[in-house]
Amino acid sequence: MSDFDVIIVGGGIAGASLGAEIAARRRTLIIEAEDQCGYHSTGRSAAFYLESYGGAEVAKLTLASREFLIAPPKNFSEIRFLRVRGDLHLTRDELPDVPSSVETRVVERAELERLVPGIRLQWRRALFEPGCADIDVAALHAAYLGAFRRSAGKVTTRARLERAERSGGGWQVRLQDGSTLTAPVLVNAAGAWADQVAAASGVRPLGIEPKRRTMVQLRVGRSGLKDLPLVDDAKGSFYFKGEGDSTVWLSPHDEIPSEPCDAAPEEIDIALAIDRFEQVVDWPVERVERSWAGLRNFAPDRLPVYGFDAAVPGFFWCAGQGGFGIQTSPAAAKMAAALLLGEEPDRIVAHIDPAVFSPARFGR
Ligand SMILES: Cc1cc2nc3c(=O)[nH]c(=O)nc-3n(C[C@H](O)[C@H](O)[C@H](O)COP(=O)(O)OP(=O)(O)OC[C@H]3O[C@@H](n4cnc5c(N)ncnc54)[C@H](O)[C@@H]3O)c2cc1C
Repeated sequence: MSDFDVIIVGGGIAGASLGAEIAARRRTLIIEAEDQCGYHSTGRSAAFYLESYGGAEVAKLTLASREFLIAPPKNFSEIRFLRVRGDLHLTRDELPDVPSSVETRVVERAELERLVPGIRLQWRRALFEPGCADIDVAALHAAYLGAFRRSAGKVTTRARLERAERSGGGWQVRLQDGSTLTAPVLVNAAGAWADQVAAASGVRPLGIEPKRRTMVQLRVGRSGLKDLPLVDDAKGSFYFKGEGDSTVWLSPHDEIPSEPCDAAPEEIDIALAIDRFEQVVDWPVERVERSWAGLRNFAPDRLPVYGFDAAVPGFFWCAGQGGFGIQTSPAAAKMAAALLLGEEPDRIVAHIDPAVFSPARFGR
């Protein structure tokens, strides 16, 4: 008999949420290379929920997740994960296209000045997305790991998959410390390392590319910022949101190709972020309080990948969650669980076609 029914590689939001959905029905182990789950992308996000983000197919997963995030089942969490603040997509000229399923309204200059005091003159109007919210990422990730453990799921940290081989209709997984584990199903939820984990398992990589994104926490000479809307540029060159009364989280919206690694911010990207910020509002920048970077991981078509590999049996992809892996996690995990277990999908994802996210779309 195998040690487990399913081994999930990676304890970020992708591995934890899928694990929580299947652990009651399959003996499941999460192996996480780092000392703690969530050390990489999951622990470094900008922590917002934005329905228009990632295009129409991703929006389906985001919208399907909203109810769960805003009013989670009591046995999952006592607290809600969303705090609504709205988002202003600023523009000097054309308004951005957003999926028709997303609620929006146009905001003209006079209202813009009330919503973002100190906004510079060049920003003529904006598209307002009222549903945009902050996500309590740490609480959501912890709730998934908690639910996973309550269903008898096991988590092992400092357990890096080094190699995996098919043997006897299942997988033999070799960890960095030399130990081995067996299971008929291996889930690749390794984030930036998804292609490396595939290659180490004898599975053809899909071309999932890590891209670095920088975040900066600025202290500014302006107060009353905490509840202002998220502000971004319709053309995608920055975003920022009030974090504390006089602090903002700011990103230059960078997307720099990277090897899988412990990503760190570069001075040039921090400077670029501040330069762009100063062109949006007249809030004096006092200092950089902290900065960090993380990797967003994209398949060639920028859609996530959920489903069994088309060529290698028992290898399940749960990867390529780009910049939307947190906000889509409830729906994505339920859809992926149905695919993995071969069961009917949960009602919140019953209307979503999983073929759109299948690894088979890359045609082998
Ligand atoms: C700056 C930034 C801002 C973002 N903002 C948002 C946002 O506002 N909203 C949103 O929804 N999303 C956002 N995202 C995206 C989101 O963070 C990711 O989509 C999500 O965290 C991906 O989760 P994951 O579990 O796939 O990856 P990760 O959290 O990186 O987890 C993968 C895990 O796999 C482990 N691993 C890798 N290789 C192995 C191995 N061989 N053996 C064992 N373990 C292994 C790693 O150690 C890692 O912990 C942002 C990302 C960044 C970087």
